[in-house]
Amino acid sequence: TRRPYIVGNWKMHGTRAMLSEARAIDRAAQRHMKVEVALAPPYTLIHPIHREAEQIGVGAQDCHHMDGGAHTGDISAAMIADAGAKFVILGHSERRTEHSEGDARVRAKAEAALAAGLRIIMCCGESAETRESGKAVAFVKRQLKASLPPADQLPADIGDKLTVAYEPIWAIGTGNAATTDDIAEMHGAIRALLVELFGEEHGRDVRIIYGGSVKPENAAAIFAVPDVGGALVGGASLTADSFMGIALAA
Ligand code: 13P
Repeated sequence: TRRPYIVGNWKMHGTRAMLSEARAIDRAAQRHMKVEVALAPPYTLIHPIHREAEQIGVGAQDCHHMDGGAHTGDISAAMIADAGAKFVILGHSERRTEHSEGDARVRAKAEAALAAGLRIIMCCGESAETRESGKAVAFVKRQLKASLPPADQLPADIGDKLTVAYEPIWAIGTGNAATTDDIAEMHGAIRALLVELFGEEHGRDVRIIYGGSVKPENAAAIFAVPDVGGALVGGASLTADSFMGIALAA
C-alpha cells in the first residue's frame, strides 16, 4: 500500500514571499518520510519551489488540454513539467464552475497531462443541492467516470500516475468538513468504481484522498476512515504549521 498523500493546493495565493513557507514544509517533510507531501502553488511559483525542494513534490493546479498554439494566457502540460511540476490537479470544482470545464474537457486535460509524463490528481465532488437530493454517490460516480481517461489509455503504473480527490463542494472553504460516515460511503463507492473500471489490482492501488476543510484538528479522524489515502488541503496548506500538523496526523 502507498504512503498517505498530503497535497497542498495554494489556489490563487502566493508570491515569492511564500517561498519561506514552502521551504519550511520541505524541511518538515524530510523528517516525516512516512508521508508523501506535495504542494501545488500558483504557476508562477512552480519553478522557484522546485529548484529548492529536496523532499516535496511540486505540481500545478490545472493545465491546458492541447500541446501548444494560439491560446493566450494558457499553459500546457509540457510547460508545467518543464518548470518542474511532477503532477497536476485536474477537474477542481473551482475550475469546473469558474471556467465552465465539463467532464469531456477535464478528460482531455488528463490525457494531455499523462502524455507529458505528469501524475494526475482527479477531483470530483457534489454540490450541496445534489447531496440534499440524495443523489451524491450517483453524481460523483458519473462525474468521475466521465472525467477519467478509459483504462486502455492509462499507463500500467496507474496506482502511481492517478490519485482521485473527493471534494464535496459544500465542504470547501466552509470550515465544515464532510462527516466521517459520508466520507466512508463516498470513498467506498469510488473504490468500487475504480475496481470496475481498472480491475481489482489497479483499482485498489489508486489512492483516494479527501478534500474540504481538512485541518489539524479533524485530520486524524478523517485519515482513520477506510479508503482515505490522504488529503487535498486548501486554506490549511498556506502555513507550514497547519499543513504539517495535518501531515503528522496521517
Ligand atoms: P479547503 O481546505 O480550504 O476547504 O479547500 C479544499 C480544496 O478545495 C483543496 O483543493
